Amino acid sequence: MKRQIELYHLTKIYNNQKTSRKALAGVSFTLGPGLYGLLGPNGAGKSTMMNIITGNLDATSGKVLWNGKNVLRMGREFRRVLGYMPQQQNLYDSFTGRRFLLYIAALKEIPRSDAALQVQRVAELVHLSSELEKRLAAYSGGMKQRLLAAAALLGEPQILIMDEPTAGLDPKERVRLRQVLAQLAHDRIIIVATHVVSDVEHVASEILLLKEGQLVDQASPAALIEKYAPGGTLEDVYLTIFGEDEA
Ligand code: ADP
Ligand code: MG
Repeated sequence: MKRQIELYHLTKIYNNQKTSRKALAGVSFTLGPGLYGLLGPNGAGKSTMMNIITGNLDATSGKVLWNGKNVLRMGREFRRVLGYMPQQQNLYDSFTGRRFLLYIAALKEIPRSDAALQVQRVAELVHLSSELEKRLAAYSGGMKQRLLAAAALLGEPQILIMDEPTAGLDPKERVRLRQVLAQLAHDRIIIVATHVVSDVEHVASEILLLKEGQLVDQASPAALIEKYAPGGTLEDVYLTIFGEDEA
């Protein structure tokens, strides 16, 4: 089955009463199955791009295509293949972890006969099986992040959009989540937005460098190092492109 997402000259201008801010200035790229790191400092436009891809925000111009079809015209057909882990944590404190995942499964229209098993499986992937009966009010920040990652994985999405998924995780949890994502990427598209180079340097097949709403480059970590910081690391590439103050 073909799995491809294309962005065509995507722009976003936020207009408030007094100010107008260009968050995306014409971003185009095509991605097939693999793990992609969307790397850039705060304010680069990562969340804006992800919100447009997932249909939570309208672009000012440009379009997003899934297998050649405009996602805006696909509606729920696109939502069915999409998993999204938002940057902010809007969780229902009185829910238990299991109830939250079952709720998300229902929103995704996963048949009830499958939902319980799927919840079990995604919880295992993020190492939360033994915490599912606890209320979310008692979850740590890291547990909430992992629960959101598990929620995004429900329904076997073909494209997974994750906005700063490792924020708030301790080093061990970061490594674990990275490994999970790498395993899942062989037959689907995973885009991970981050400003933390180590989140993506050893697992991403390609890195998309986003600076002030523009795509600076898209290439494998090795190719980027060769081009921008020969003999160095991806961290050096980041510093070369975004400057010391962003480190
Ligand atoms: P990132 O996720 O890379 O940190 P964002 O997409 O959140 O970047 O933001 C890109 C730019 O757009 C920033 O300058 C930010 O201040 C601005 N921005 C984001 N959301 C809004 C909004 N709702 N209204 C006005 N400006 C916004
Ligand atoms: Mg963001």
